[in-house]
Amino acid sequence: MYMPCPPPPRIVSTRGRRRQVDTATHFCPNPDCAYRGWVGWGNLRANGHPSGGPWRQLLCIACRGYFLETLGTLFHGKHASVDLIVHVIACLAEGLGIRGTARVFEVDPNTVLQWLVEAAEQLRAFSQHFLHGIRVRQVQLDELFALLSAVKAGEVSEAEAIERLERMSQWVWVAMDPESKLLLAIDLGHRTLAMAQHLVHSVAQVLAPDCAPLFLTDGFREYMTALLTHYGHWVQPPRQQAQGPIPRPRWLPLPQLLYAQVVKTVRRRHLVRVRHCVVFGTLEAVNAVLAPLGYQINTAFIERLNLTIRQHVAAVGRRVSTLCKGEEGLRQQLALYQTYHNFCLPHASLRQPLPQLLPTNGSGSAKQWRPCTPAMAAGLTDRVWSLREVLLYRVPPWPQPVGV
Ligand SMILES: [Zn+2]
Repeated sequence: MYMPCPPPPRIVSTRGRRRQVDTATHFCPNPDCAYRGWVGWGNLRANGHPSGGPWRQLLCIACRGYFLETLGTLFHGKHASVDLIVHVIACLAEGLGIRGTARVFEVDPNTVLQWLVEAAEQLRAFSQHFLHGIRVRQVQLDELFALLSAVKAGEVSEAEAIERLERMSQWVWVAMDPESKLLLAIDLGHRTLAMAQHLVHSVAQVLAPDCAPLFLTDGFREYMTALLTHYGHWVQPPRQQAQGPIPRPRWLPLPQLLYAQVVKTVRRRHLVRVRHCVVFGTLEAVNAVLAPLGYQINTAFIERLNLTIRQHVAAVGRRVSTLCKGEEGLRQQLALYQTYHNFCLPHASLRQPLPQLLPTNGSGSAKQWRPCTPAMAAGLTDRVWSLREVLLYRVPPWPQPVGV
C-alpha cells in the first residue's frame, strides 16, 4: 500500500459552532492534493445536495476540489434508488440467488449481477482495510464442497448439466477464528496444495506478524505443507563430529507453531467422536489453547458455519445456480458473505450482557443483551454495521493513524 509522506497539519475549524454535517469519515480524492487520502483531517466542508440529488457534495478547502460523498462506492453514478440497491445486495447476502433477487425487486438479472460485482469489489477493499494485525489464539481451516453451475436451466439436457456440474465441482475454503467467529479468509478453488497454500497465505496476511495461533484442520494432508511453508524457518543442525562436512540446514516448523488435525468419526450421519491428532507442537500445548473453549463447542460451530454459508450463499446451497455465474459469481457472493458475516450479523454466542436491563418499546420483555458481531468480538470495530453503512463506506487508500 502506497503511503505518502507525513500528512499535512490538521485543519481546525475556527468557527465556534460545531459543524452540523459530519465529514469525519471522508477524505479528499484529488491525487494532487496534500490532503488526499487522510480521513477526518478537517479539510472537508459539506456543500449541500447538488441539483436536489440524494447525496451531499463535499468541498476540500485545501485544493478547492468538489466531490460527492458516494465517490468510490457502488452508489456513485447510479440512478437506481439507494434503498433498492441496498435491499438487492442484502437479499444476495441473505442467500437468495441472483434470479430470485431480480424477480423480487423486478430488476433485470444482469443489473443485479452488475451490482453484485461492484459490491464485492468494494467489500474486498473494506475487508482488507479492517482485517490486518489481528491476534487470535486459534484458526480453523476448512473446505466445504460447492457445486457450481454455469448451466442455465433448459438449455442443456439434464444429464449434460449434471456432468458439467460434476466437472465444475469446487470447494469453498474457509479460515475462521472460532472464538470471535471472525472469517479471516474465504476462497474458492479445487482441493489442492496450491489452494491450501493460498488459504494459509491469506490468513498469514491478516494476522499480526508475530501471531502464531493454533491451526486446526480436517485430515486433508496438504495443509501440513502449506503451514510449514508459511510458519517454518531454516535450522542449522549441530555437527555430530569435530570433523567432516557441516550438515545441511533444514527447513523446520517454528517452535511456537501448533497444528492439530481434527478427526471426526461420523456414524449414521451423526458426529460421534472428535479427536485431535497433533502434527506440530505438543498435545499439552494444543490442549492448553483448546481447554477454555471445550472440544464439543469447537467442532459444533464449524458444522454450523458450513450450514450458514450454505444458507447465505445461494450457489453453494443449491444445485440450481443462477445466470451465467461460474466461478466469478460465486467468488463475489463469498466476498459479500465474508463482510456481511463479520460486520453486520450479530452472532448469538457472542452477545454480551448489558450492565442493566433496557426497557423495550411496547410490551416486550426488557433488553438484556448487547448484540455483538465477529468484528466486534475481534476488537476491529465497536458497533454493528448495517449493510448500507458498509456499502457507503469510502475505503481510504492507506491505513489511517489510530487515536490522533
Ligand atoms: Zn483536496
